[in-house]
This record gives sequence, structure tokens and C-alpha cells, in this order.
Amino acid sequence: MTQTPSTFQRQIFAFVLLAVLVFLACLLGIITRPLSYFAFFWPTNALLLGLFIRFPNLKNAAGLLGVFTGYMVADLVTGNSILISLALTFSNLIAVLSGLFLFDYARSKLSINHQNVSLLYPHIIGVTCGCFFGALTAITVIPHLPHSFMLVENRWIDFFTWWSGEVLNAVIILPLILAAPSWQKIKHATHLQNLKQIRVYDTLPFLALLLSIVCTHIFYGPGALLYPLAALIWAASTYRLFNLSVINSLVALTLYHSVTGMFLDEVNSSYLTTIISIRVGLIILALATLLLCVISQNRRQLYQEVLYLANHDSLTETLNRRSFVEFSEIALKDRKNRAISLIMLDIDHFKQMNDQYGHYVGDRALQHLVSLVKSNLRETDLFSRIGGEEFIILLKNNSLSETEKIAERIRRSIAETPLKLAQREPITLTVSIGVSHSNLPTTLALQELVNQADQALYQAKTRGRNQVILAS
Ligand code: GH3
Ligand code: MG
Ligand code: MG
Repeated sequence: MTQTPSTFQRQIFAFVLLAVLVFLACLLGIITRPLSYFAFFWPTNALLLGLFIRFPNLKNAAGLLGVFTGYMVADLVTGNSILISLALTFSNLIAVLSGLFLFDYARSKLSINHQNVSLLYPHIIGVTCGCFFGALTAITVIPHLPHSFMLVENRWIDFFTWWSGEVLNAVIILPLILAAPSWQKIKHATHLQNLKQIRVYDTLPFLALLLSIVCTHIFYGPGALLYPLAALIWAASTYRLFNLSVINSLVALTLYHSVTGMFLDEVNSSYLTTIISIRVGLIILALATLLLCVISQNRRQLYQEVLYLANHDSLTETLNRRSFVEFSEIALKDRKNRAISLIMLDIDHFKQMNDQYGHYVGDRALQHLVSLVKSNLRETDLFSRIGGEEFIILLKNNSLSETEKIAERIRRSIAETPLKLAQREPITLTVSIGVSHSNLPTTLALQELVNQADQALYQAKTRGRNQVILAS
């Protein structure tokens, strides 16, 4: 028997997890601090914001205590005074919590359509404002502390350095956490069978990006920030959001490295303003790529939906006549297919049923029949509603006798499974079925095979209905 964890266990889990994660992320940030106290890469705040958005269960008192502990311990063990550690922790907490609050507020107040870029609005608001308040807290408190690394007279430049750095970190980290696939999806994607499906063509945008990044290291110049632009656009319109987020992060980190390396050698006096400018450029580049990725992902989804609607009947969700003809012609020409069979079926006395029970019940009967037929078919079979209560099925590579068995099984399951609706007696349906068959390659056109099945169906009707007849 599995037990659900108690509230206490959940709180302990949140405390330990967040304390450890925050500690490790802070260490990573501290190790990469090249210039005094301004981390080049400070992943902790964005990591926390992402975790709290994605796993709201972590938002509890013990979790917050864990966060506080992680920040404090990381700063203390790397040599900061208690006061400075407290001020840094306080600023970081303000950034994360105000960001989270504003994210939740924006999500509840704005009308978000998950089909377009408005999906990103709460994230953009949460990140820019949260980082703003974090930086503001830092420059308000830290310059006044003893042995501070911040000077009161420099605080505005420090403010913009801090703010731009935090926003850049969020643009790099947050999409990774929010778009990360679930464990199930990762297992599915890394399955050998699915890995084999990756085509060389799909890797081209990524290779182009690598090339453009290498170029930023070789051909220094003010244009370097734009070298990856075309490859990024290509990647954004090809890859899914998570894969694109990984690429975006790598690009931002490597570009930051190459572009700062290039400019900081030359400018000594205005070096913080140069860094801020590079960061803002990278933020805009990454944001534009994310926006494009969301737009093209939604466009692909929309296209799939429209395609589905164009190919299917809206009441029964079987193929419509046009798409059935299109896919059947392809099946007939496909050299891999050795035989084609058609099963045509028509509900018996359906008009009478409509007259007796009404059109609503008639519609439900059509859906009921479709689900019974589908349960007797394979994925590769084509199943279409070609008229009011007439359906056609195309089977590939079945012999005539196998097709007859399938048709008979369908007929029997319909006759033996009455339609049950609330507050009504069960209603029994029957169908008449005509079957035609041809080995491939054939000189018969699709229409010929359809006519044969139709004639067989007509015979089934005249011989008393509720039966299967093979075309002679
Ligand atoms: P038979 O046994 O000879 O096939 O008799 P039948 O009454 O089934 O045949 P007929 O072709 O005379 O009637 C078909 C009926 O199907 C007429 C029409 O009202 C009904 N029908 C067609 N499309 C729909 C639909 O989408 N919903 C409902 N409820 N009825 C439909
Ligand atoms: Mg009928
Ligand atoms: Mg009919």
C-alpha cells in the first residue's frame, strides 16, 4: 500500500530540497563572479522563481526557510560578513517573492490566451519587476553597511548592472525550468526507436548556430552580437520550446563571454556601462527568439488543428469523403500494399429511428456505431463517413476471407451492443454491409471498388438487412 506523504514530510522535503539547490546554485554564481561582487552568472533567483511557478507545493514556510538557509550558508562559507550576507539574501528574496507575486497577479488579471504570445506576459512582468525590486533593495541597503563593496555614489550604475544581470539570468534559466519535459516524456524521447527518428536535416539549425558562435570568437567586432541571429530564427521556427531554451541559454552564455572579452579589453573607463549594454542586447536577442518560438509552435499546432478539421467529419470524427478518397488513392498506389479491401456499411431503417426518437438520438447512434467499429479496426485502416448514415472502411493487406471475418465481427458487435441513453430503453441498431476486394497492383480504380462494395451492400439490404455480402 502506498501512503501519501503527510504535511510534515512535505515541508521537510521542501526545506531540504530548496536549501540544497539554493546553496549549490549560489556557489555556482559565486565561483563565476569575475568582478568584485557582481556575478557573471547568478542562476539561483531565476531557478527559484521557475520552481515556485512550476511546483506550487514548494511554496510553504519550510520551503522559504530552506531558501533563506541556502542563501545565507553559501554567502557565509565564501567569506561574507553576516550583515552583508543578510542584505544579499534579503535582496534576493525580495526579487524572487515580488517576482512570484507579480507573476501570479498578472496571470490572474490578464486575459491570457495559451495560443499566442500573451502566454509570456506574466513571465515578462514577474521577471522585470521582481529583478527591479531586488536590485533596488540591494542598492538601498548594501552601500550603508560596514566594509561594503557598494559605494553610495556608484549606486545607480550598480543598480542597472544588478538589474540587467538578473533579467539576463532569468531569460537564460526560467524557460529551461518551465518548458522542461516531464520525466515520462524524457524517457519516451530518449527511447532508441525515437532517437533513430531524428533526421540529419533537423540538426542543421543547431549546427549553423554552433558555426555562428565560433565566428563570434574569431571575427571580433561590434556586429558579433548579431552573428547568430539567422541561425536563432531558423532554430526558433524548427525546435520545440524546451530545446530552443537550451540553445538560447548556450548562445547567451557563450556570446556574453565572447562579446565582453572583446569589448572589455578596449574600454576601461566605462566598463560597467559596456557590460550593461551587452546584457540588454542579449536579453533582447533571447527574448525575440523565445517569442518567435512560441509563435511558430502555436502556428504549427493551429495548422494541425485546421488540418484535422479539414479531414474529419465533425459529428463522428471519422475521415470525411474527400480525405478518404485522397488517402485511399495513395494506398492503392503504394507498392508496399499487396491487397486492398473495402467494407461499406449502412445503418438499417435509420430514418425510422430518427422519426421515432428524434435527431439527437440519431446523432448519438452514429457516434455509438463509430466507436464500435473503431474498436474492431487497426491504426492503419481508413474509416470514413461518406454519407448521412453510410460509412466506408479501407483495409490494407487483408485477404478476402479475413476482410469478411472483420466485417462480420463489426456487424455482430453493432447488433449485440445496444445504444444506452439515460432515461431511455436501450436501442438496438443493425447494419447492412457490402465488401469488395482487390489484389495489388490492380487496374481497378478506387471508384470501381467502391461501386462493387455499394452493389454488395444493396444486395444485403434487399436480402433482409443485418448481413454481410461479398461483391461477386
Ligand atoms: P435503409 O435500411 O434502407 O438504409 O433505410 P434508412 O432509413 O436507413 O435509409 P434512408 O437513406 O432512407 O435514410 C437515411 C436517414 O439518415 C435519413 C436522414 O434523416 C438520416 N441522417 C442522415 N444524416 C444524419 C445525421 O447526421 N444525423 C441524423 N440523426 N440523421 C441523419
Ligand atoms: Mg440506412
Ligand atoms: Mg443510406
